[in-house]
This record gives sequence, structure tokens and C-alpha cells, in this order.
Amino acid sequence: MRQSALFTKTRREAPADEVAKNAQLLIRAGFVHKEMAGVYAYLPLGLQTLENITNIIREEMNAIGGQEVFLTALQDPSVWQKTGRWNDEVVDVWFKTKLKNGGELGLGNTHEEPLTALMTEQISSYKDLPRYVYQFQTKFRNETRAKSGIMRSREFIMKDLYSFSKDEAEHNLFYEKAAAAYARIFARAGIGETTHKTFASGGSFSKYSHEFQTVCDAGEDVIYIDDATGLAINKEVYDDEEVYKTTGINKATLREAKAIEVGNIFTLSTKFSDPLGLTYTDAEGKRTPVFMGSYGIGPGRLMGTIVELLSDEKGMVWPEAVAPMRFHLVSLAQGDATVQQYADDLYDALTKAGASVLYDDRDARAGEKFADSDLIGLPWRIVVGKKGIEAGALEVVERKTGTVTTKTRAELIAFAQA
Ligand code: ATP
Ligand code: MG
Repeated sequence: MRQSALFTKTRREAPADEVAKNAQLLIRAGFVHKEMAGVYAYLPLGLQTLENITNIIREEMNAIGGQEVFLTALQDPSVWQKTGRWNDEVVDVWFKTKLKNGGELGLGNTHEEPLTALMTEQISSYKDLPRYVYQFQTKFRNETRAKSGIMRSREFIMKDLYSFSKDEAEHNLFYEKAAAAYARIFARAGIGETTHKTFASGGSFSKYSHEFQTVCDAGEDVIYIDDATGLAINKEVYDDEEVYKTTGINKATLREAKAIEVGNIFTLSTKFSDPLGLTYTDAEGKRTPVFMGSYGIGPGRLMGTIVELLSDEKGMVWPEAVAPMRFHLVSLAQGDATVQQYADDLYDALTKAGASVLYDDRDARAGEKFADSDLIGLPWRIVVGKKGIEAGALEVVERKTGTVTTKTRAELIAFAQA
């Protein structure tokens, strides 16, 4: 991508009403646009980043047997009335709207009900189980607090997976697989070391659910970390003595930290299959309710978390696996046709070698280009200037460490192919 053609521009200031660091940086770098409080549009660089995150999640969900679908954002009240969750006192984040010819619709804030209802048409026998179904879907939630930028928005994409098992034992096997897949997702996204599997309350259906909490001062949650195991406990269950018996965690040595919930996994049991009539016939011919679980991750919240955690005073610092492009090729031609030609050729060669490159071919001062490059935060900056060309060695700057090395053109192409 040539930066001169990119329609988004960097800006010095974020909107005055934007208080979250993640949104401030993402807006300044042109990754997102703030439509209104708690509502953000993704622009080319932001969308590519979000897609990279989404693809990591998709790969890991497919690896544990997930089958992808795309359900609807518009929701039929009658399905939700069966579980009591159409009620605004039960679910306080509904956005609801009216049909022209009468009747109401909801904008989906989660999808247990419609998927469970849908699965009644697909599951009838024990031979149809287990099944794992997931989607990336826009959720709408009338959040009261919208001060965390893209980490808590009123319209956001969620990856939600639902498991359908014959019984608790079969469910538990998958639940552990899903937990391991989550750990891999957060590791691949560059926040593995600071993300803790956290015991949270499980409602009335299982003793505990699990959150994946990333330690960060911008977090809205408080967790208690056991450094010996890397596990954590959230506030809701901190005073529950049973959690210490179950896990062997020593309450006395816990370390308190602020954290961001980047994902969570839930045992639902038959909470939804009972009211929606999702049953199967077991091997003995008996009708049995399907045993369910749900597994959520917000790719946008994950993206915001990466910005919060890994940025520095100059801007964002993207890990290679999620960066919108791997290289920022910065031309310092400033009217010098030879330098311009060299940079154009190198851009073509790197692209041909399979690298993703943002090519700053704009007619601007070096200082401005470097500041923009730091703000955008791609992993590797390649500087094309007269001196480097003459020496046959171009400067390569690693964004994360600021380390400067030099590479010949051939070495750069090899590096791009790696
Ligand atoms: P929170 O307690 O932070 O409101 P939640 O318990 O409502 O989260 P879930 O309903 O379990 O979250 O949603 C699953 C995942 O979706 C969360 O772990 C988070 O990554 C993401 N998520 C939830 N709410 C939002 C939001 N408003 N904006 C962006 N992502 C969200
Ligand atoms: Mg919530």
C-alpha cells in the first residue's frame, strides 16, 4: 500500500472527548474513526489489524472442530421470551426497534437463544453430538460506561462459539480444549504472558466460569494473581473459600492487579436447551437435553488491549502477527529522482517477495515521516535515503526495541521472505 494513496491521514490530536489511550492512538494513526461515544468505524489499517486478529481466532476455533456460521443481528423476540431474556430487567443492554407493520425486533447482544433454537432443527440423536458452532458477529449493547475506547463499545464484533454435548463429561473435555485454544490465541496476539486464566462466578449452572484477563492499568476489572500457577481469581469469587480448595491456590500470596477481560468461557449446562427444547435421543432411546457451553472473545477489545499494553510515548507497537503490515518502507527522496526510483523498485521487490508493506512515498519531511511511522507502529521500518543507497546498506529499525541495523538490498528481500 502506497501511503500517498491511503485515504486516511495521521493527526496530531485525538478528539477532545476521547479519554481512552487505545482510541486516542488508533484515531490519530487513522486506524479507526469515532462515529459517536462508544461507536467506532474501522478504516483500512484498523480493519486489516482486526482481520489479522480475527484470522488467528478463526484458525484456533477451526483447530478444535469449530464450524463457522453467520447468524443474524436482528432478533426475534419470541425466541428470547422463551428464556425470559427479552425482559429489559433481565438483560439491561438491549437495543430494541420496531417493525413498520407492528411488532418489535431486537439487535442481538449475544446469540445463545437463536442458535439453540436453530439447532433444534439439526440435532435429534446422540449421533449428532458433539457439535461446535461459532461466528464473528456484530453485537449491540447499550453499555452505560463507554470510556474504554474500542475495548467497550456499543456496537462490536464478537467471536462467539457454542458447544453442544451429550453430557457434562463430554462437555468438560471440550471446555479444556477451548481454554487451551484461548491461551494460544492470546499468545499469538502478543499478550500471552500478561493474560491469566481467571476463575469467575459461573452463575447457577456450574461453580465457576473462566475469564481471560490481561493485566493492564486501563482495565476495568480487578483480579488476584497466583504467580506460582499463573492462574487468577476475580473479585466475585475472591471471598469464596471453595475456590482455594479446588485450585490449591494460596489466598495469602495473591497479587492484586487491574485487568481487561479479553475473553471468557462458560458452562451453560441446560440453561438454554431446556426452555428452547433442544434435546436428543440417547442410545437407549431416551430424550435428553443437550449440554451446552459458550465461549466469547471480542477481537476489537483484544486489539484495544494490545494498543494499551504495547504502545509507548511515540505511538503504537504492533506484534508481527497482528500488525496491518509488517514493513514500513520510508522513502527520504524529497525530490531526488534516484532515491525515489530506488525506493519504488524496492517496494515492488519486497511486495513480490510476499511481504506486506506500507510504502511512505509521500512528499514530506523526514521528521514528519518518522513521527508518523512511530505512531502507526509497524514492526520494521526500512529507511531509503541517499546515504544508505550509496553505502549499499539500508537502515532497518525495529519498532519494539528501537534497534537499528543495516541490510543490503538482497538481505532485505531474504528478510521479507522469511
Ligand atoms: P464485560 O464484563 O467486560 O462487560 P461481558 O461479560 O459482558 O464483558 P461477554 O458477554 O462474555 O462479556 O462477551 C464476550 C467477550 O466479548 C468479552 O470477553 C469481551 O472480549 C467482548 N466484549 C464484551 N463486551 C464488549 C464491548 N462492549 N465492546 C467490545 N468487546 C466486548
Ligand atoms: Mg458486559
